[in-house]
Amino acid sequence: MTPTLPQTIRGERPLAWPSPSAPVAVIGGSAAGFYTAWLLSRGGRKVRVYERAERLEPAPRTLIVTCRMREMLGAAGEPAVVNEIRRFELWSGDRSMQIFLDRPDLIIERSALIRSLAERACAAGTELALGRRFVGFTANTRVPAIELERREDSARETVPAATVVGADGVLSEVRRAAGWPKPDTVPLLQAVVRLPADYPRDTVRVWFAPDDTPYFYWLIPEEGDRGALGLIGEDGQKTRRCLERFLETRRLDPIEYQGARIPVYTGWVPVHRKVGATDVYLAGDAASQVKVTTVGGIVTGLRGAHAIAQAILRADGAGELRSLRRELNFHLLVRRSLHPFRQQQYSHLLDLLNPAAHESLARFHRDDAVRMVLRLCQNQPRLLWVGLRGFLATRGFPAGSEEI
Ligand SMILES: Cc1cc2nc3c(=O)[nH]c(=O)nc-3n(C[C@H](O)[C@H](O)[C@H](O)COP(=O)(O)OP(=O)(O)OC[C@H]3O[C@@H](n4cnc5c(N)ncnc54)[C@H](O)[C@@H]3O)c2cc1C
Repeated sequence: MTPTLPQTIRGERPLAWPSPSAPVAVIGGSAAGFYTAWLLSRGGRKVRVYERAERLEPAPRTLIVTCRMREMLGAAGEPAVVNEIRRFELWSGDRSMQIFLDRPDLIIERSALIRSLAERACAAGTELALGRRFVGFTANTRVPAIELERREDSARETVPAATVVGADGVLSEVRRAAGWPKPDTVPLLQAVVRLPADYPRDTVRVWFAPDDTPYFYWLIPEEGDRGALGLIGEDGQKTRRCLERFLETRRLDPIEYQGARIPVYTGWVPVHRKVGATDVYLAGDAASQVKVTTVGGIVTGLRGAHAIAQAILRADGAGELRSLRRELNFHLLVRRSLHPFRQQQYSHLLDLLNPAAHESLARFHRDDAVRMVLRLCQNQPRLLWVGLRGFLATRGFPAGSEEI
């Protein structure tokens, strides 16, 4: 893609007060940033995306998302889809259960998703400035402005910006510069592996192994004979050791590793602030919009981006933000309940999933967790007690045995 580099204004020159039609500055050229930019451009606003990388070549990453992404993005998401998942196999020790999904989950390639969103944003009028790193808000100009560092020569540029969207990921410099508190993070590591010949290509396997991680291991099949086996940990080195051991015991050879730190959602981050006269918004990982049950951030980040675009275009978006907040808080409640679980409790949990509970898991996806969990508990009320026991354990009460 040939980027359209914007005209930038040097710091020494007097800046013109940004008119209401001045470009919105989106910091970060990735999923949340380009989706925001696309929606704003479609809504008639001028937009510039500032991306610190000099080329739009995001690192490949295999991701799994619910069908909610398809509902949100339509055709724009399709170039990224490499496989569809119809079945989950959950393991705890030697216990297992299967969930057949009514609507398939999607395996997507992140770099293809970012390229597709970038193309749509640029076609709708977004300008793309590559090799521009946001370094802060400027206090010494008469007009609201941001400061950027040019990748090619490390020189600084000042550009007027009355509206700034920080979509610059987990280590967001916009978040830091605007005074939001630093997010908690966890390491996520996955190895791309060649799948065993008999591995079903429409199935994700999940292992609960609380001695290694309070989250879980997964194996997701990509296209062809490749898959991604990974885990979320709490300590980087231990996570790597655990993954290597897990690969070894299953006789799987890593072809490559993909990993990064992921924000942990510990409570709602209000997405708007004023810095001087500048309206600053956060979206995606920059706002910790990640489901803390599974640490999936694509759909929730897109939802955050959508709400912000609505807020900028129509001073609207509060409803969408409220619903995203409710969803993320619910995932936090579930995570707190599961976090102290030992192996026996996970096994017991799988035993409790009766046919009616299976039906709820098949019907509702994890981006509709409120309805999924409420329906689950309606169908199997003992799950409420299991959850409560786990939740109380995080509050200092003993987690108890597997007897529930
Ligand atoms: C190995 C791995 C597996 C994952 N698996 C899943 C999964 O299966 N399902 C799922 O839903 N989620 C998954 N996630 C999480 C998901 O990838 C993220 O939540 C999502 O990609 C975040 O998108 P984003 O646009 O908010 O931020 P990012 O993709 O992090 O993009 C931030 C962008 O901002 C740019 N930038 C940063 N600082 C600056 C600056 N100062 N100035 C200008 N530009 C800047 C960066 O270069 C980058 O392009 C996974 C993450 C990892 C690491």
